[in-house]
Amino acid sequence: MSKVQMTTPIVEMDGDEMTRILWKMIKDELICPYIDLKSEYYDLGLKHRDETDDQVTVDSANATKKYGVAVKCATITPNAARVEEYDLKQMWKSPNGTIRAMLDGTVFRAPILVKGIEPNVKTWEKPITLARHAYGDVYKNVEIAVPGAGKAELVFTGADGTKITQTIQEFDGPGIIQGIHNKDASIKSFAKACFEYALSTKQDLWFATKDTISKTYDARFREIFDTTFESEYKSKFDDMGIEYFYTLIDDAVARVMKSKGGFIWACKNYDGDVMSDMVSSACGSLAMMTSVLVSPDGIYEYEAAHGTVQRHYYKYLKGEETSTNPVATIFAWTGAMRKRGELDGINGLIEWADKMEKATLSTIENGEMTGDLVLITSNKDAKKLNSEDFIKAIRRTYDNM
Ligand code: NAP
Ligand code: MG
Repeated sequence: MSKVQMTTPIVEMDGDEMTRILWKMIKDELICPYIDLKSEYYDLGLKHRDETDDQVTVDSANATKKYGVAVKCATITPNAARVEEYDLKQMWKSPNGTIRAMLDGTVFRAPILVKGIEPNVKTWEKPITLARHAYGDVYKNVEIAVPGAGKAELVFTGADGTKITQTIQEFDGPGIIQGIHNKDASIKSFAKACFEYALSTKQDLWFATKDTISKTYDARFREIFDTTFESEYKSKFDDMGIEYFYTLIDDAVARVMKSKGGFIWACKNYDGDVMSDMVSSACGSLAMMTSVLVSPDGIYEYEAAHGTVQRHYYKYLKGEETSTNPVATIFAWTGAMRKRGELDGINGLIEWADKMEKATLSTIENGEMTGDLVLITSNKDAKKLNSEDFIKAIRRTYDNM
């Protein structure tokens, strides 16, 4: 059987610990036997990040801008314990944070639904993709504990010295105040990333804020989404037969619970933090979740939503068997290859991705899965496999399809 040929390389960002072990198994068993893999490889393993003073992370993000599609393995974000463990020159920043900032991207996450592991919400037939704005609001707030009676004011001093002042509250006793902000440019990037992703996945886009109460702040989000949609995306959405739908956040929550799924739900930073945890836990497991970073100009970086699964790695190092779930990492590869195929017009890559995802899901539906899924499946005959045997089982399913 001849392998699928690629024209443009994919940017490959290797990572750490157990996911680095899975990375190699996935390449050896599920990718390289079928695809003549053309990748520009960046080793984001912590040791190599330290050796290069984290330049490798910056280089990998620049390569992603150049080629348009990357696939990333989970990486360690160093803390004090990791600085000691790896004898690091310094506490390097989170690679995901660096890459997100360089691509100005928004992260889209969706549960991977499979028979036998049903969402807790009975009506959800298709995944709900959550898009979270990753800048500002309460995550960049300034707070004051008000000690006692006094006047709180909101003051803006323009670059030319002009002042805008508003009274927040005349306090008659102790209390609290908080200042938050956002930037038009960041909201615009978020809006564009959401519209682009809706087009690229052919799904409706929902967006919600509380603009009835927050008549300036939340209203600005709504306005920027509206004007961006009308001026740049409406006709593309019409052509594709998809919709942009705005509503109030409380109405959105009520509708989501009764929906069938199959749309993108764009959320402000805080709403996205809370709602993504709700959607993912209602669907079972972080290892059954896709995650992709999309820039406003349509650059894609696919990854798993979970971390490097440190606890399993230490068992692996002791020679013990581990049953770490590779599904999210497999779907990072299939997502990236499908996108590469779409951009380069290579059907073989798209077909490989579709078939590999089906093979992964049917393997689980046939009762072969990793330990984390055995714990939550309704399939009474489920069998727990170690990581390697599970990946080999997927390969068998694929070859028999
Ligand atoms: P984690 O790697 O997500 O794992 C936490 C726990 O979740 C695991 O111990 C395991 O539970 C379960 N789990 C996660 N993924 C799993 C999988 N694929 N299969 C089976 N079980 C899975 O989080 P962490 O241990 O807190 O973090 C480890 C490192 O990952 C940290 O250094 C952190 O900086 C990094 N991290 C990276 C990313 C990223 O690059 N995207 C994201 C988050 C964290 P049991 O132990 O109960 O089996
Ligand atoms: Mg959270």
